[in-house]
Amino acid sequence: MSLKEALEQRRKEGLYRTRKVIQTAQSTEVEVGGRKVINFCSNDYLGLANHPDVIAAFQQGAARYGVGSGSAHLVCGHSEAHHTLEEALAKFTGRDRALLFSTGYMANMGAISALIGRSGEVFEDRLNHASLLDGGWLSTAKFSRYRHADMASLESLLKKSTADEKLLVSDGVFSMDGDIAPLPEMVALCEQYGVQLLIDDAHGFGVLGEQGGGCASYYSLSQKEIPVLVGTLGKAFGTFGAFVAGSEELIEYLIQKSRSYIYTTALPPAVAEATLTSLKILQEEDWRRERLKKLIGRFRIGAERLGIKLMTSETPIQPILIGESDKATVVSERLLKRGIWISAIRPPTVPKGSARLRVTLSAEHSDDQLDRLLDALAGAMYG
Ligand SMILES: *Cc1c(COP(=O)(O)O)cnc(C)c1O
Repeated sequence: MSLKEALEQRRKEGLYRTRKVIQTAQSTEVEVGGRKVINFCSNDYLGLANHPDVIAAFQQGAARYGVGSGSAHLVCGHSEAHHTLEEALAKFTGRDRALLFSTGYMANMGAISALIGRSGEVFEDRLNHASLLDGGWLSTAKFSRYRHADMASLESLLKKSTADEKLLVSDGVFSMDGDIAPLPEMVALCEQYGVQLLIDDAHGFGVLGEQGGGCASYYSLSQKEIPVLVGTLGKAFGTFGAFVAGSEELIEYLIQKSRSYIYTTALPPAVAEATLTSLKILQEEDWRRERLKKLIGRFRIGAERLGIKLMTSETPIQPILIGESDKATVVSERLLKRGIWISAIRPPTVPKGSARLRVTLSAEHSDDQLDRLLDALAGAMYG
């Protein structure tokens, strides 16, 4: 099939992806194609991407360090800003140490492929983020997927496994569904079957747990129980980059072995400076989490009143399941005409037949914006 034919086919299946150009800062209201719309699809859950203190820290960081980091961490790119942020993230997560990666995608690829190899087996939830699945494939370990959050399905795979080394990998909060992984049960299975555990809490940090400590804090799980904890900085932190947190040995091992850590340019030091400030706000300003909780509750009540079926989620990720990809795109376009931006999430990001509108809420959304979302949904869902 030629590229042209492949593109044509994608279009026919309603799976063609396009980008919209935004002309303003990331916020609850953005300008798209010269029009102001209310944004309900960002991962900036706490509203820190455009926070004045975070911007100021970024500017000061650029004034001190310049823009580019100049090289990889292991050559001459590891600045004091990076180092201080790693120490702060270790303290925040209650782990021995943390290691910065340039993106979450790279953290997952690099950590999984460093921790398990050909003679191992990796166990993954079917709905894991693409970067976790890709890390599993890259590792060359035997790859086994279990039904979403289904511990009986996981245990039957663990029972059958004859691999020397085993690694269980999961989202903490599922990125397209918003539900929280059953971590206490997973930890118990890991202990019983001698399995290492990697949890990617991209969507839990800042949102769940005491001071936004994420799913590990939500369930009070220690470094011993979740030995490999991944976080991203591009979501609730509002900046960019990612980290892995864990034991001294884990971090030293990743520095030696993780190819996506070693062979890439360190993120700009100014981003690390900005993240130090956003981490402080994220921990201290509980009102942002309380505000989110209130908005989530109001949204769920309002949507149910409209007869909209929601998924089981207590997080700011509140998807509306549509089913067919074409239909999800049509509803998304109708919403945009009404001034509401929610992108349609279609396969292969989600399983076939489960296209959805991934509504996300931010602590910065006003009650009025939420009401306008509900009004627009009332018209667009059935129009
Ligand atoms: C967004 C996301 C990532 C990727 O993080 P980036 O920093 O954007 O590369 C990884 N895992 C999960 C679960 C995510 O949602």
